[in-house]
Amino acid sequence: MNIVLDRARCEGHGLCEEAAPQLMHLDDEGELVLDREQVGEADAAAAQAAVRVCPVAALRLA
Ligand code: SF4
Repeated sequence: MNIVLDRARCEGHGLCEEAAPQLMHLDDEGELVLDREQVGEADAAAAQAAVRVCPVAALRLA
């Protein structure tokens, strides 16, 4: 499973980072950086939570 970011939609609020800090972080300029795009079993629940919490649907799992 991969996590995919639609950068054009992302508004940089960081709610996803709170849900899955092991997978993503906001950089110093407020841009979201995916630390890992491949999501294993151990991080699947966090990845799904990050997708759900994004208010502009900028994240999806593929
Ligand atoms: S929650 Fe959505 S809009 Fe906010 S930083 Fe994450 S991907 Fe971007």
